Amino acid sequence: MPDPEVLIAGAGPTGLVLAHWLARLGVRIRIIDKTTEPGTTSRALVLHARTLEFYRQIGLADEIVSRALKVTAINFWTRGRKAARAVFGPMGEGLSPFPYLLIHPQDQHERLLIERLAGLGVQVERRTELLGFEEHAAGVRARLRDPDGAESSVEAAYLAGCDGARSTVREALGIGFPGSTYSHLFYVADVEASGAVMDGEPHLDLDESDFVVVFPLPQPGHARLIGTVREEPNGGEPLAWNDVSQAVLGRIGIAVERVNWFSTYRVHHRVAERFREGRAFLLGDAAHIHSPVGGQGMNTGIGDAVNLAWKLAAVLGSRAEPGLLDTYEPERIAFARRLVATTDRAFTVVTSTGPVARFVRVQLVPRLLPALFALRSFRRFMFRTVSQIAIEYRSSPLSEGRAGKVRGGDRLPWAGDNFDPLRSLDWQVHVYGAASQAVADACAGQGLALRVFPWEGAASRAGFERDAIYLVRPEGYVALAAARDGAEELEEYPSAPTEVPPPARG
Ligand SMILES: Cc1cc2nc3c(=O)[nH]c(=O)nc-3n(C[C@H](O)[C@H](O)[C@H](O)COP(=O)(O)OP(=O)(O)OC[C@H]3O[C@@H](n4cnc5c(N)ncnc54)[C@H](O)[C@@H]3O)c2cc1C
Repeated sequence: MPDPEVLIAGAGPTGLVLAHWLARLGVRIRIIDKTTEPGTTSRALVLHARTLEFYRQIGLADEIVSRALKVTAINFWTRGRKAARAVFGPMGEGLSPFPYLLIHPQDQHERLLIERLAGLGVQVERRTELLGFEEHAAGVRARLRDPDGAESSVEAAYLAGCDGARSTVREALGIGFPGSTYSHLFYVADVEASGAVMDGEPHLDLDESDFVVVFPLPQPGHARLIGTVREEPNGGEPLAWNDVSQAVLGRIGIAVERVNWFSTYRVHHRVAERFREGRAFLLGDAAHIHSPVGGQGMNTGIGDAVNLAWKLAAVLGSRAEPGLLDTYEPERIAFARRLVATTDRAFTVVTSTGPVARFVRVQLVPRLLPALFALRSFRRFMFRTVSQIAIEYRSSPLSEGRAGKVRGGDRLPWAGDNFDPLRSLDWQVHVYGAASQAVADACAGQGLALRVFPWEGAASRAGFERDAIYLVRPEGYVALAAARDGAEELEEYPSAPTEVPPPARG
């Protein structure tokens, strides 16, 4: 087997998505995982719009949307009765081709990624563990334990640590993982059940501090329960379903007929001190972990993978200098830190036993949220907040300029059919209106595809400026926004693909 250009340690969602993008971009990879088989439990359920937009670029979105459940409303329970229902509707209408959030269990999601990866000629190498690695001038030499128990080594230009919360890569690099662990013990259970809450919508009983959340699963009659465990059994016996407080389940009238998966876990909130050291990178849970409030964790790992993939491909393909890889950490760590802080605040309100938090949960949330969700402006605000479409890289060294409301570093706003060309996974220039000859020449000179869209209401509503120039990165972020006469800025943009001299390859 020839040496890979990128060795991916870990075949969770982060590693699998990185493998997809790199394979699609022609990079030689190996992806290893120490487990015998992919995860068989549902774990992360929620897929957000930004992830689906990335999946659309690699042809995965339609299949996931067809298999998943759209969340259209959420119900609040207090004192044993349904107190309120907040209707989401198509929350992000006009903002994304995927104006909703989806429920799709992680095991099914990973299986689909693995199947599609095999279609690209890449097999996950199971029972293959990364033991450690050393970096040298030309790359990394990684030590592996192979399926037969023997040790072997592999050379790669780069190592991607997608190896989860207990990352070997992070530990080998000695990168700290500061943060803390909440005292609460939680349980997750995938159940078959009946009752009023089994209606295909999420239900929350936040009444008491032993709250329960019921998430519908795509299979009818199946749901995921998440709750707190107050009393831990003495003697270190592992908790079982029967140890879970039945009071809260009784309050929402759910009759659990079968428990297909039960697990307890403590929630941590931590962000790695660095996301990169030399030729090794940290992505996904290896780089950041936090409470599951808002279903952000897995989606953020997938965002890391997409951000790094095209940069690695460009450097390995001699289309960019290695300095491009320096932008991965600042672009991704800022969001991870913000996310940990915000999920921490939300989590504290949900789990606190104090009178103020209780008032917020029992009185304020059920009254206020349905009224707020009736407002289109609030629905759009919430969609922007949770869907990850508002993640921007404005302070990145790759981001320049402003035209209309769109700035360098913003996600390319959606304006109908302008996401279709993103399937090329390549740099491109968008103009909404008419492109001047100077712009066409600048694009031709730099080997950039020029996409001209008619000036329509959707483009104006999305914040574009008529005839302005938008240089778009391979994963759909605006690198440069310039006025209609800004062909020179385009020519001078330092990271445009053919502008940079080839890197010194090891
Ligand atoms: C019980 C439970 C419930 C959860 N519920 C939710 C939820 O509701 N919402 C949510 O957003 N998130 C949830 N999560 C978290 C979610 O599963 C993670 O955020 C997500 O899996 C992260 O993906 P990842 O690919 O970064 O890491 P992981 O999925 O952890 O994948 C890491 C992979 O690396 C492999 N690996 C580790 N070390 C090595 C090594 N040395 N060599 C080779 N392979 C290695 C592991 O075997 C694993 O397959 C839950 C997690 C658990 C455990």
